[in-house]
Amino acid sequence: MNQRTCAACDCELDQNSIKVKLGGKTVEVCCEECATALGEAEAARSSADTEK
Ligand SMILES: [Zn+2]
Repeated sequence: MNQRTCAACDCELDQNSIKVKLGGKTVEVCCEECATALGEAEAARSSADTEK
């Protein structure tokens, strides 16, 4: 069992998957769009944290 799915949209990953670092964690996404979406989601969360 080695099936991985995109962390953003849940579709299957192939060899074109992209690794994205979120916090201390590395996740994989299927395309750059998903990477950006995840990165922006994480950025929004982080800035929300610092604002308290
Ligand atoms: Zn995706």
